[in-house]
Amino acid sequence: MLSEMNMRRKTRQVSVGDVKIGGGAKISIQSMLNAKTTDVEGCIAQINRLKSVGCDLIRLAVPDEASAEAFGVIAKRTGLPLIADIHYSYKLAHMALDAGAKKIRMNPGNMRAEYSLIEPLAKRMSDLGVPIRVGVNGGSLDKRFAGLKEELALKESALECANLFERAGLKDIVVAIKASDPLVNVEANRLLAKECDFPLHIGVTEAGTLRSGLVKSSISLGALLAEGIGDTVRVSLSCDVVEEVLAAKKILMALKLRDGVDVVSCPTCARTQIDVEGLAQKIELMCAAIDEPLKISVLGCPLNGIGEGKKSDIGVAGGKEKSVLLEDGKIVGEIKNDELMPALEKLIKEKLKSKKLGKIGM
Ligand code: SF4
Repeated sequence: MLSEMNMRRKTRQVSVGDVKIGGGAKISIQSMLNAKTTDVEGCIAQINRLKSVGCDLIRLAVPDEASAEAFGVIAKRTGLPLIADIHYSYKLAHMALDAGAKKIRMNPGNMRAEYSLIEPLAKRMSDLGVPIRVGVNGGSLDKRFAGLKEELALKESALECANLFERAGLKDIVVAIKASDPLVNVEANRLLAKECDFPLHIGVTEAGTLRSGLVKSSISLGALLAEGIGDTVRVSLSCDVVEEVLAAKKILMALKLRDGVDVVSCPTCARTQIDVEGLAQKIELMCAAIDEPLKISVLGCPLNGIGEGKKSDIGVAGGKEKSVLLEDGKIVGEIKNDELMPALEKLIKEKLKSKKLGKIGM
């Protein structure tokens, strides 16, 4: 059950293929491939892994013409609405549209100097129903905004870019401001949210590794989302792309903005009888694409495990050779420790089916 307290900011809505952004649509989760776009097989393998954990939108960099051609091959083979990430080049943006891009992300550079190039691109995108995401980050701020406070400069620069495309005839615009300081990021997005009805893509730029990136993103995105700001999210991390999606989903679930499988596990101690971390990690990955509410507890001993299991849909309380399995708070059996994972998988599938909770996705 999603929380009623999260009043979402009202925005216009854009469509990226069949995925809607803004206008009350479900907050979508994005990631970006880190395989070379010209490595078609590598990209398709990453896309499949991202889809398996519930990624809604996938972006690929298009730094040159060979990448634009490969983008077209990947889009055709996967059949997914892919986003092309373009820096500065209007020619590459047109090539990405030829290749079937369903959204273009432009790093604008000095757009004012190139208005004659914006207009035909904006008109073509409007005709095709392909939205643009314009935005700025702390590292690519126009020098004209030097001297302003960073949050103000980011807001002014982002709005200027978006307004250029809107004046050129494109209404389907998503805006992103990304600072690497999580608090500057919050403030800049707050300012932006007050002054426009564009859907906002939120994220922290150069957030760091799984540890620091996750903390900064949780603080920054958490604050914005709790205020109803943010329509699509990317948690940028210097690690496996799959972790970005898992992290984004956890942030949205913690704020009751998205349903999913919540795996509760204990920190382990001298009483621990089973591999709590390994088991919890496996369950999380197995259930990552399930968007139905289910709480699963994995605790290392019967002392707290049975109590916690009583508050969960499914619970494991670790034992010396056998562990206790609980369903809806009731003990349903004792399972040998080396058979726990298949037993849990079976129980989760049955649970979802019995609750008629839709697609199992595993
Ligand atoms: S649940 Fe049991 S094993 Fe886990 S930390 Fe608590 S006492 Fe230790």
